[in-house]
Amino acid sequence: MTFVDTLHRKRRLARQVRVGDVKIGGNAPIVVQSMTNTDTADVEATTAQVAALARAGSELVRVTVNTAEAAAAVPVIREKLDRLGIRVPLVGDFHFNGHKLLAEYPECAAMLDKYRINPGNVGRGTRRDEQFAQLIEAACRYGKPVRIGVNWGSLDQEVLARFMDENARRPVPEPVEVVMRAALVASALESAALAEQLGLPGDRIVLSCKVSGVQDLISVYRDLATRCDYPLHLGLTEAGMGSKGIVASTAAMGVLLQEGIGDTIRVSLTPDPGGDRAQEVVVAQEILQTMGLRAFTPMVTACPGCGRTTSTYFQELASRIQTYLRDNMPLWRTRFPGVEHLHVAVMGCVVNGPGESKLADIGISLPGSGERPVAPVYVDGEKTVTLKGERIAEEFQALVFDYVQRRYGPDETSKAD
Ligand code: SF4
Repeated sequence: MTFVDTLHRKRRLARQVRVGDVKIGGNAPIVVQSMTNTDTADVEATTAQVAALARAGSELVRVTVNTAEAAAAVPVIREKLDRLGIRVPLVGDFHFNGHKLLAEYPECAAMLDKYRINPGNVGRGTRRDEQFAQLIEAACRYGKPVRIGVNWGSLDQEVLARFMDENARRPVPEPVEVVMRAALVASALESAALAEQLGLPGDRIVLSCKVSGVQDLISVYRDLATRCDYPLHLGLTEAGMGSKGIVASTAAMGVLLQEGIGDTIRVSLTPDPGGDRAQEVVVAQEILQTMGLRAFTPMVTACPGCGRTTSTYFQELASRIQTYLRDNMPLWRTRFPGVEHLHVAVMGCVVNGPGESKLADIGISLPGSGERPVAPVYVDGEKTVTLKGERIAEEFQALVFDYVQRRYGPDETSKAD
């Protein structure tokens, strides 16, 4: 048994929930999801962004449904996506007025594949239970699963007040953050129990308890994982921008995934102005792939470079190959089944170049400072050819494509070569 097999076996076994054609929980692969940041009422912009997220590999896409215009736009967006051949399930994100929108826009209710409900933003006082019931009744009527998504920033104040009061009566009260974490988990579990009492089957419920601190997230999900068997949606909320958002999300989710906790993940990155929303999909995939939990895109091993490299040439080649592989994946995924497991190495000099290249399926060791200007290529551990001159990048790319065709293509004769 490999280490990765051990990880898979260790995974917490949750009930399985179907969202459109996608399965979450049970023994299904961990699902990557994302969320748009367009105004959902803007049909063109939202359709384009959902399509881009789906093409990047998002297996579910969530859209905000916050106004009558947004609810009216959902069926139009669905239709346009279908016409583009994009079947990615759509999840509607509801806050405050979801009960009304689902009642007044039945086509929206029917077209969405899942509803996300935040128990802290359903309503206040007596209206809270009534409006929560209306949301659940809509899910039952249309046969939809629901994510009960509790969030640190919008925790149900009634649950929090109850936990704070109980804590105040203890001889030695717990710190506030401990009480808040317990209240978060209780809010999710109590809402799920209420949803089941209202008739929503347990295998149509996904839970999340999102917080913005790494240690808080780990603690909350460990607790949640031991207290229920609903599939868990993992994600650090408000993770932030750039490297901070990526590092914090990876640190938190890496620990939990390693413990077998998490059935679907989202990386909540704040994009740079004008930045690519699909980056959150790429990061989520890379977390799962580098942990050996799933494979999405061929991986490129590249050294960091050092004083032995005389130029940025090898960085450019590594970047070029990575982009080439990722850009081709939408087509290759169907044409070359299994190509997502391909491992390519692009190395900067003779110190580690040949070794890493031999370990990859196909690798190139570029010449470092003072070395002969030649670049040996290794295929399945054997040196096959040495490239030199101005066109090393183009020639190596062609060799990668040849390898992909030969190893993953449909031609059985050439596969046996
Ligand atoms: S492989 Fe060579 S160029 Fe790359 S980091 Fe190691 S010593 Fe430096």
